[in-house]
Amino acid sequence: MATLGTAEHPLRIAVIGSGPSGFYVADAVLKLPGVVSHVDLFDRLPTPYGLVRFGVAPDHQEVKRVTKLYAKIASDPAVRWYGGVEFGRDLTMDDIRAHYHAVAFTTGAQTDRRLDVPGEELRGSHPATEFVAWYNGHPDCCDLKFDLDTERAVVIGVGNVAIDVARMLCRTPEELAKTDIADHALEALRKSRVKEVLLVGRRGPTQAAFTNSEVEEVGELADADAVAFPAEVELDELSKAELAAAPSRLTDAKLAFLKTYATPHASTKSRRLVFRFLMSPVSISGDASGHVRGIRLVRNALVKGADGSLKAKATDKFEDVEAGLVFRSVGYKGVGLPGVPFDAGSGRIPNDAGRVIDPATKAPVLGAYAAGWIKRGPSGVIGTNRACAVESVKGLAADLAAGKLLSPTQPSRDAISALLTSRGVRWIPFDQWTRIDAIEVERGTAAGRPRVKMTSRDEIAKALGS
Ligand code: NAP
Repeated sequence: MATLGTAEHPLRIAVIGSGPSGFYVADAVLKLPGVVSHVDLFDRLPTPYGLVRFGVAPDHQEVKRVTKLYAKIASDPAVRWYGGVEFGRDLTMDDIRAHYHAVAFTTGAQTDRRLDVPGEELRGSHPATEFVAWYNGHPDCCDLKFDLDTERAVVIGVGNVAIDVARMLCRTPEELAKTDIADHALEALRKSRVKEVLLVGRRGPTQAAFTNSEVEEVGELADADAVAFPAEVELDELSKAELAAAPSRLTDAKLAFLKTYATPHASTKSRRLVFRFLMSPVSISGDASGHVRGIRLVRNALVKGADGSLKAKATDKFEDVEAGLVFRSVGYKGVGLPGVPFDAGSGRIPNDAGRVIDPATKAPVLGAYAAGWIKRGPSGVIGTNRACAVESVKGLAADLAAGKLLSPTQPSRDAISALLTSRGVRWIPFDQWTRIDAIEVERGTAAGRPRVKMTSRDEIAKALGS
């Protein structure tokens, strides 16, 4: 049998999803020593970069610079990018088996976790994920409407997504106009009446998931004052003991920022971003038309759980807060793919260090790998996905050496494009994406912005003349 991974018989890899993990997998495959590989990346969206384009906040442009690396990877002749090709609709697991030696799933976490409180379905109660996708110009969310004709918004959760949402609601139109926020969101936020945004954490400030630079940043907003309540940033005995047992300079610095915000200070700024701790949502109430009118919160106390971590336990003290908007920002969740094992509870593809496994037998699924949030859950920063991808590709390399990969019947490089064409799938190759990219940047330059995004599939198709 011919050796796989040579110029005559290149290793053919499919990657489903072209967010950071997809590109890190491609890069790790290309770097396998002594192995000649071809990597095809498929994305259901007409644009690459996934969470970097549609998740990273528009006012965090420096984070988006990582796309230069991804573009370099995509420009390698051994890599092809197929935009607008949906796994399960345009391309199936059987197609993968017929054309590739292995597949890596890097589809991230596309939906949100729910609060499971009454009133969550009311108009004006939204998953933060949708708001984020909307202001970032995700084509699936460009027609969503958020009613910003209210003075108070409540964001449940104190992770980095929650703080992104709160910050975007508190930025002035002038601040937003310098970013690559979607035009429809810029226009809506220009008219926003929101004056106060509450960020609500169920545990205390030491347990808050947001990172220090994000907490510091909200102290520097042009026209919004960051505020906390002195009693809520004061540590309880259990948190003090936890911090004493495991001192952390990062946590000390986070507490210092929050204490500054809790120090009474005069402010002439017109908006407030208010940190609340030790509070959980109980129910969301609505008006006669079915729109959010307020939220009932319960005060929590911290207790030690069986695993030793500090958990929130509800007391009998409640607080009713008037608000016209509620965002739940309590974590993302992965979505299953047709024909691929999935654990609905954790929202992940079951895997052993990146090798997809059959949940019943725990045996590896031949030639199938996962990387990124669909592998390990929604945690970490963008760079975390590089090491995660390297680990998965290490498993793939070991399986290549052991001869345990798929044996495609049509391994020629042209076969997959021919198959998609025969199905009438019109995909966007990377050089067409670079045209879209150039137009967006050009429009941005004219407007003093990093780019002006195209936010619908139609607009992109039109720009490409198709
Ligand atoms: P996250 O960091 O896991 O935060 C989730 C928050 O939701 C936590 O405060 C959690 O509190 C809370 N929560 C969970 N269930 C809850 C419930 N039932 N009721 C009330 N609160 C609840 O998730 P994320 O903010 O979605 O971020 C996902 C990942 O992306 C993180 O790794 C994050 O750092 C990263 N990210 C980074 C940036 C950045 O670097 N600027 C920006 C965006 C996202 P408990 O701790 O009590 O569970």
